[in-house]
Amino acid sequence: MSAARIAVIGASAAGLTAAEQLRRSGWDGAISLIGAEPHRPYDRPPLSKQVLSGAWAPERAELRAVDALDGLDLDLRLGTRATGLDVANRRVLLGGEALECDGVVIATGVAARALPEQGPGAHVLRTLDDALALRAPLASPGRRLVVVGAGVLGVEVAAVARDLGHEVVLVAPEAVPMERAVGAEAGAVLAAAHRAHGVELRLGESVAGLLHDGGRTRGVRLSGGEEITGDAVLVAIGSAPAVGWLAGSGLDLADGVGCDEFCSAAPGVYAAGDVARWPHPVLGREVRVEHRMNATEQGMAAARNLLAELAPERFGERTPFAPVPYFWSDQYRFKIQAFGDLGEPDEVRLRVLDDADPGSPKVAALYRRGNSARGALTIGVPPKPARALRALVAEPRPWDEALAELDRVPG
Ligand SMILES: Cc1cc2nc3c(=O)[nH]c(=O)nc-3n(C[C@H](O)[C@H](O)[C@H](O)COP(=O)(O)OP(=O)(O)OC[C@H]3O[C@@H](n4cnc5c(N)ncnc54)[C@H](O)[C@@H]3O)c2cc1C
Repeated sequence: MSAARIAVIGASAAGLTAAEQLRRSGWDGAISLIGAEPHRPYDRPPLSKQVLSGAWAPERAELRAVDALDGLDLDLRLGTRATGLDVANRRVLLGGEALECDGVVIATGVAARALPEQGPGAHVLRTLDDALALRAPLASPGRRLVVVGAGVLGVEVAAVARDLGHEVVLVAPEAVPMERAVGAEAGAVLAAAHRAHGVELRLGESVAGLLHDGGRTRGVRLSGGEEITGDAVLVAIGSAPAVGWLAGSGLDLADGVGCDEFCSAAPGVYAAGDVARWPHPVLGREVRVEHRMNATEQGMAAARNLLAELAPERFGERTPFAPVPYFWSDQYRFKIQAFGDLGEPDEVRLRVLDDADPGSPKVAALYRRGNSARGALTIGVPPKPARALRALVAEPRPWDEALAELDRVPG
């Protein structure tokens, strides 16, 4: 190997984990970890929870202590954006500099989508700087926040803002919150929870545009013409894979970086985390997963498989990446946990474990495909019974057996 260098592009959850795995596996060449943001690697889930609420100082979201980062002996370049990739020659372009490498891990994640003409007063939430900017208006009491979008991000921010005592109006075209992630049945439970906490849900409504006052965004106009104003507007309408820097590389960039089942996009080039799309060997279709646990698991898998490609005699065989998908969300005082494949089920069986307080739902659900449970969801359920449902979808069990397990979740 000429340069004995692996470049990891993107210094966040997937990229840092990949770098750590390279060291753990015994890679003793250089590792360049290239991150566009100026901050040391930090975790994103707290941004819409503890950092936004002010419960955590921003430093608490850092993924590793300085000592642990130093111990990896990285060529760590923060505030540095990769601008291109020469796949055939394994050369990463950093503006004027070209970095010769043996292997590359692409972990550049996604960027928040914005609405046209967002002025001051309109926010997105992807980065630490975004979270601090949104926290500023929420730091004063009695504000009114307009949230556009009922995905996980929009509803988590709505929950934090209500907990802080602010008025919240949430506008989205879907019929229920988190519809795409958890389906209509569980989404209805979440709608009731947010209403119970005082969020004004304007579901089934589309935003036609933003309202401005002297250049400042002060609300939204619905497609029917109604205007909703507030002190701040959060635009939480999804994200787009950060692949602009790979234009012209020849990689498949149709929706993120297209990979094979080993997370390889081209010889010596691997991808991991939110940016990576790959054929999931168990789910039987291509997926791109924008969840925190996947970033860790895929960062490790991509690093191991890259090493196995570079030196199989030393690092062994490559293995397909076949995780049980998982995500969680924290809203008010309940946790949502989802395991496996909740998309396009043939049937959803939802068990309400306790309906005393719609603001603190306790629900468990299974998602059937064919004759087996492929997905499981819990809301407000302790970790142990939630893990029992995970086991059902990790190795899909016949539907009848799975339903019997659902009945055993304690109320
Ligand atoms: C506010 C928020 C809350 C979340 N909460 C949850 C949750 O509760 N549960 C859950 O499961 N998931 C949650 N997620 C999702 C989770 O955080 C992501 O899945 C995870 O961060 C993905 O990690 P990643 O490393 O793939 O990408 P990212 O974290 O997006 O990191 C990519 C990094 O690459 C950098 N980069 C981009 N382009 C370049 C370039 N050209 N050169 C160099 N660097 C570049 C970016 O600046 C960024 O730092 C949340 C996400 C957000 C934003």
